[in-house]
Amino acid sequence: MLEVSDITAGYGNSTVLTGVSLSIERSEAVTVLGANGAGKSTLIQAIAGLTPIRSGEIRFEGERINGLSAARIVRRGLVLCPEGRHLFPQMSVRENLMLGAYSRKAGRSAIAAQIDEVLDIFPALKEKRTVYAGSLSGGEQQMVAIGRALMAKPRLLLLDEPSLGLAPLLVQTVMRVVGEINQRGIAIGLVEQNAAAALELASRGYVLETGAMVIQGSARELSTDDRVRAAYLGVV
Ligand code: ATP
Repeated sequence: MLEVSDITAGYGNSTVLTGVSLSIERSEAVTVLGANGAGKSTLIQAIAGLTPIRSGEIRFEGERINGLSAARIVRRGLVLCPEGRHLFPQMSVRENLMLGAYSRKAGRSAIAAQIDEVLDIFPALKEKRTVYAGSLSGGEQQMVAIGRALMAKPRLLLLDEPSLGLAPLLVQTVMRVVGEINQRGIAIGLVEQNAAAALELASRGYVLETGAMVIQGSARELSTDDRVRAAYLGVV
């Protein structure tokens, strides 16, 4: 479904990603692990068309997407839920969700139906749909951010560190929801520092270190890999 081949990307004179390749199959959940500053956000933003690549190729559903605008990529069904949530705090939950449908040429009733569908996935948000997004807890705000991405009807949902800043129990809740989304047939590309949570969710993963993919394998292989255990799972 997604084929990233040998991409290089960076900012100004600095190169962040060198020769990075990865793939995600239809309905699969794949994680990219990496420490702070490894280049995870740069990678996910390059895939979503928010950071240009210097070389290599990105194909989605068999077609080249690097060079397309981010909005076009969203319309093809590849949607990014960015790190840091980026909600509009003075707008209601419902209004924030509606913004996720901006790229679709859907009528009011289709959008309302889509909001109902999204709220079914996040029952906790149902009763809070009219409150300001800024008044929600961190976990609830993360749910709204994921819900907003779902409003664009992704076939592949990319998530940039959804567990960031959340208490362990909320991390579990967020990951469970991402798992449910995956079970609905939506492929997941999850970029995470929280390797334990990510490897529970994903069936396959990659490790990005200083801008290069250094390890790849099934979630089971990664969770038993000595390097992964020492560097990312805190097991000595
Ligand atoms: P984090 O967990 O902190 O988000 P990351 O693995 O997602 O880390 P990136 O955010 O992709 O890493 O950053 C990789 C490198 O690129 C870092 O050295 C960072 O300082 C640099 N970088 C990121 N964004 C920019 C930018 N807009 N301009 C210049 N340098 C940037």
